[in-house]
Order: sequence, then C-alpha cells, then structure tokens
Amino acid sequence: MTHCDDDTLFGSPALDRRALVRLGAAATAAMALPWPATAQEIASARVGAASLKILTDGSITLPTAMLARGVAPAEVRAVLAQAGLAVDTTQNALNVPLLALGRDLLMFDCGAGRNFLPTTGRLPQSVETAGIDPAKVTQVLFTHAHPDHLWGALDEFDTPAYPNATYHMAEAEWAFWFAPDVFARLPEERHAFAAGAQRVLKALEPQLKRFRPGEDIVSGVTAFETGGHTPGHVSFEVRTGSDSLMILGDAFTHPVLSFGHPDWATAFDQEPERAAATRRRLLDRLASEKVLVATYHLPGGGLGRVERQGSAYRFVPAT
Ligand SMILES: [Zn+2]
Repeated sequence: MTHCDDDTLFGSPALDRRALVRLGAAATAAMALPWPATAQEIASARVGAASLKILTDGSITLPTAMLARGVAPAEVRAVLAQAGLAVDTTQNALNVPLLALGRDLLMFDCGAGRNFLPTTGRLPQSVETAGIDPAKVTQVLFTHAHPDHLWGALDEFDTPAYPNATYHMAEAEWAFWFAPDVFARLPEERHAFAAGAQRVLKALEPQLKRFRPGEDIVSGVTAFETGGHTPGHVSFEVRTGSDSLMILGDAFTHPVLSFGHPDWATAFDQEPERAAATRRRLLDRLASEKVLVATYHLPGGGLGRVERQGSAYRFVPAT
C-alpha cells in the first residue's frame, strides 16, 4: 500500500479525485483500510471514522414505461426529455455500499448474483478488483429481498458468498416473502422473485438474524422503516462522530422522477401509496438534515444529497 495523504486516500489523485467525496473537515490522517489504495470503485467517502466504498454489480436497462405507474407515458417522457435523459429506456446502476467501521466490514445488499440478468452479477469481480477478501465481510445488511439486492448473497455453489458474515433482514421483509399468499400478492411475472427469495433466504438462514426497525445492527448503524417498495423495506442510518450517512436501498430509484415526482410509483413498488408516502417523508427529512445518502440505483455510485426545489426536491450527486 502506497503512502497517501487525505486527498489520495484511495489512490492517485488523477485516477480517483472525481470519485472521492470529501465530507466536511472529517478527513484527517490516512487510516488503515481493509482494501488497497489501488482499489477501483465507483465512489468513496469518509464518514467520520468510517470509510465508505461503492462497488458495482452492473446495471439494468428498463423501459421508461415502468417508471411511473398510472401516469400518462407522454407526461413521463416530457419530464425525462426536459432533464436531458433518454425517453424510451433508463439505465439503473447497481451500487453496493461497503463500509469499514471499527472492526466491522459491512456490506449493504449483495447484488443480483449469476442467475438474474447478463448485465448484472459483477459484484464478485468488483470485490476482487477492490482487493477485498470476501471472508473479511463481517455483516451483510439487506434493505429488501428483491433479486438485484439478495440473489448475490450466494456463490456458484449456492453457499453464502461472504462465508463469515452475519446476514441481517427485517422481520417484516422475511415475513412477506414466506407468507402463504406471497404468490397471490405478486403478478405472475414476478413469481420468480418469491421463489428466488425463499431459496436464497433458506440457504442463508443459519447465518441470518432478523431485526425490527429501530434496532442497532452494530454500534453506530441503525435500521429504520422505509416500507412501500416492498412491505419490509428498510434503510440504515450510520452515525460516527458528528457525521452520518443514510443507506436508502430502493426508496429512490430514479435520479429525477423519485425526487421531482415522489408520488409517481414505479412498477416495482409493491405498495404504491405507501412507497410514495415514504419518499415524501424521507425527502423532507433528508433535505432538512442535508445528510449524505447512498442510493442503490442512481448514477455515479448513487451518493449525494437532497435539496428542496419548488414544491418538490432534487438529487445533488456527490461526485
Ligand atoms: Zn433494486
């Protein structure tokens, strides 16, 4: 590992400066990191005494018709065009946050694994490229159990990809996917989501703990309820010193629509009205607190902050 000062914590400034997020005056001397300085990641940040790295699992291209349920397609396309975005398809990044905090190396969601889409399942390669030993991940925290967040928890032998980790899932999320009526509650094209969730969670069960929102997962990391995208969807608040970070999973899935039109539910929001109410509540809080957020599907690693804009909000990327 080469010597680095504050500005070059993760490598040469020429390579990584754009991706490096500085948080207030928190960055001080270089600290011992569980990954080498040459790691290639999408974004990174210091959060108090913790070090955050965003790794990619690939991306998913979706038709924009899925972005706003019950809204006239022309209206959605007009908003996208005005923002300078493609109007027919949208590319969703898959950003997996890793956080070195004290003795723990925490991973938030696991990517989609080998069996989901050809454009996903890159996380093991990203972990390897970043010089991280999967055996050193101590905690895996799930925001919810959709395939792109859960299925990567198993390796090619269907055993836990992070063998020494304790896995954590909200009680309500577990209950939804194992409920007798789960197939009835999902459209037929999404029955594979439930079969997959049950298969992966059963394999993880010996290493999995269920929690309730409000509980600390480890010291400094607390889960809070952000339901609607799925019934048991949670987010995580990391507090270290005077700094904090919110890891929000799929509470927001589009860089423009989720913030400018939070009432527009996507095709993947299981409970559309609750998802919209969650977005409204979160946006108000995030804009007031000006806190750094990590989102799973937004571009540039998904790190940024929320600002008010008229009667709605906008996402301001950190990188
Ligand atoms: Zn997702």
